[in-house]
Amino acid sequence: MDPEEKFVLDENDGAQYMTNLKGWVSRTGRYFGDHEERARYDGATHRRCPNEGCDRLALKHWLMCEKCREEKKQERFLALPALTVDQIPDGAMLYAENVDLWFASIDDLAEHLRDYEDTHGWHDVRVRIGEPVQAKTISPEDFLISAEFDGAFEPGEGVDLPQPVMDALITLNNAIVNANQNGDWKCYEILNNSPRLDVDSLRQFAQNRNKK
Ligand SMILES: [Zn+2]
Repeated sequence: MDPEEKFVLDENDGAQYMTNLKGWVSRTGRYFGDHEERARYDGATHRRCPNEGCDRLALKHWLMCEKCREEKKQERFLALPALTVDQIPDGAMLYAENVDLWFASIDDLAEHLRDYEDTHGWHDVRVRIGEPVQAKTISPEDFLISAEFDGAFEPGEGVDLPQPVMDALITLNNAIVNANQNGDWKCYEILNNSPRLDVDSLRQFAQNRNKK
């Protein structure tokens, strides 16, 4: 518990009956004394979007209105390195941010966009190219402190865990190393700077393909 936080039971001190009360009470019935701004915020559902030049309303818990958030997303997307369709690495998984779906190939993605492009257009199509990642082995130290582990597992390194746990850990790490090495298991993730797919090149590909 935060040392500043008082311990209060609902049986006695949780509330008090007041008379002659003066001050701001929000629409939800909370009393804010002299804090007009806080009371107004508490009672509100929306506020003006603080972005310069924007006169729309934002849900009060959001930093800005929906339109501005969408624009920011698009800005961040366009700032990423871009690949054209023919530059997509073999086997890479594609993640379409706008529909929150992964696609195993550019063909699957184009097929999906066949209807999407009629109903939505292309303006919010944001596709990222997933990067292969591996499962991380677990070090005994991970149980005690957060430590980067480089993958080579040596039982008993400095940390004393109960033997059954150590045995299970060795089995688990061997399974992880095997899965990483045998090539049957592949996993893709979008990392911070994972490239985007150039939208014009995607549009061209999808249109050519969907004509057929
Ligand atoms: Zn706005």
